[in-house]
Amino acid sequence: MSAELQDSTLLRYQSLIDGVWCDARSGLTFEVRNPASGEVLAQVPDMGAVDARTAVEAAAVAFKDWRRRSARERMLILRRWYQEIVDNADDLALLLTLEQGKPLAEARAEVLSGANFVDWFAAEAMRVMGDILPPADNSRREWATRHPVGVVAAITPWNFPSSMVTRKVAPALAAGCTVVLKPAEDTPLSALALATLAERAGVPAGVFNVVTAAHGAEVGGELTSNPQVRKLSFTGSTAVGKLLMAQCAATVKKVSLELGGNAPFLVFEDADLDEAVRGAIAIKFYNTGQTCICANRIMVHERVYDAFLERLARAVGTLALGEGTREGVTQGPLINPAAFEKVSALVDDAVSSGATVVTGGGGDAGLGGTFYQLTVLGDVTPAMKVFNTEIFGPVAPVYRFSDEEEVIRLANETPYGLAAYAYTRDLGRIFRLNEQLEYGMVGVNTPRFVSETVPFGGVKESGIGREGSVYGIDEFLEIRYLCLAGL
Ligand code: ADP
Repeated sequence: MSAELQDSTLLRYQSLIDGVWCDARSGLTFEVRNPASGEVLAQVPDMGAVDARTAVEAAAVAFKDWRRRSARERMLILRRWYQEIVDNADDLALLLTLEQGKPLAEARAEVLSGANFVDWFAAEAMRVMGDILPPADNSRREWATRHPVGVVAAITPWNFPSSMVTRKVAPALAAGCTVVLKPAEDTPLSALALATLAERAGVPAGVFNVVTAAHGAEVGGELTSNPQVRKLSFTGSTAVGKLLMAQCAATVKKVSLELGGNAPFLVFEDADLDEAVRGAIAIKFYNTGQTCICANRIMVHERVYDAFLERLARAVGTLALGEGTREGVTQGPLINPAAFEKVSALVDDAVSSGATVVTGGGGDAGLGGTFYQLTVLGDVTPAMKVFNTEIFGPVAPVYRFSDEEEVIRLANETPYGLAAYAYTRDLGRIFRLNEQLEYGMVGVNTPRFVSETVPFGGVKESGIGREGSVYGIDEFLEIRYLCLAGL
């Protein structure tokens, strides 16, 4: 496979600790497979607590120097990392598609949008400022200053193997922190390639360490209990996020959590229906439905329900499921057999409870493996599991509603609060939705609103903290207060 890369050194079989590419202390490895074909792409180190501890130690030592570098120096290094990523985008995209399954064009878009976070936070490194405070009396002077928190543990998921890494590592490094990253076991190759490029860009030894592991628990246990780690930045499931937050409590670490979602997609009677269908397709089937901001429940006003459903099914027919490396493919496979089983069970449950299959409804017999047909379900009710569970698959459950108040109440009846979408032209309603929907992000008349310039994050059990934007770097800084008296 490395033969297909322009730069074969981007395919790494080792982890990076303290500037040294290394195996697990135990000598154990695990396989990384292509989800579209089952082909083994690489064997990488299955590291454990001892390796994680070594990485934390290295990051703690490196922090002493990295935090003292000038902001300008960190900015220039991050800019070089950005350029390396852009220059190697084709190789990074190929690695991403091979290990994750998404179409090459989408993989390339992820690599480049992830690179934009590096560029953004390179600039933000230069804007970490403090305040001069109004003193209690004139014999004092008081300041609030912002400092890097210290060693950061970053744990990332498999659905965006490249951009989830840059979203965490770039602001951490910009702030002056050092990082130990544990990428998802399904997709460690993108993270290792990004670390290779960071090294090339001049990120010093120990500043950015990558520890691969077949199961998160052991490395995660060390990262969350080690007192030298001062911050956890995690993206993944709500269950694991809660566990890690609890584990972090013992040493009172700062935490940022990007967890699950159950995004409502509301189509009102005054919506531009074609736009709403385009939006639903874009945000429901993006990454084969495997994102935390994917539309999970499509709720359509009864006056436009039939027309919407028919147009949605027709639009789904224009999509192409297949191996991500093949021309024309728009949706890839599900990440692994467990994901396939989960999606199948949700659809079977909905159908047995009265939902109608408008299109799809099962595994793709022709492609086999973990390919699940792009599916639209009608007559879905709030009692069905598919309405209340994060589907993480290419299934669009459509529910018919009759008034605004009812649909807002239903949209909020979930422990999640990440992204919500609405299609309407009524300005008053748009303001009511923004105030009443309990979500960290609301997209009106658009399915795509994520970039490095905006604050990404959830409320309720969808998480804590924000990634990207001018607020993102604060997650890696703490405010200290200095009082100078006796003047
Ligand atoms: P998903 O269901 O999307 O795979 P997970 O929350 O299981 O989400 O995984 C997200 C990341 O969390 C992955 O890197 C995974 O290895 C890691 N992880 C899973 N369980 C644990 C754990 N107990 N401790 C630390 N990390 C974990």
